[in-house]
Amino acid sequence: MNYPLKVAAEFWTFEGRKVGLAIRCPNCGSQHMAFFANPIGGGAPVKTIGTWARIGETLETISLTPSFQAIDHYHCWIKNGELQVDSPFSCAVAAARGNHEPVKG
Ligand SMILES: [Zn+2]
Repeated sequence: MNYPLKVAAEFWTFEGRKVGLAIRCPNCGSQHMAFFANPIGGGAPVKTIGTWARIGETLETISLTPSFQAIDHYHCWIKNGELQVDSPFSCAVAAARGNHEPVKG
């Protein structure tokens, strides 16, 4: 798999605002949530801790800070709509299915 990838994600909406991003693991497809500190559409975040600062309002332009850790799947940065995996690939779900080759660190 060649990184970076276009981020595969859907916005999570609440009360008409986009409050987070459900990000798909590029290897097994499972979803992991990142809630925004600054929702699209304004207003308070739906979580007060463990949020990501967001820049960009579309999947093509979105960037999140800090980096994103999906435990047992991958660690990445999301920048300008790309999922930039910056550590050895480690999707335990895909590994258990036997359908990937781990990247050596
Ligand atoms: Zn995975």
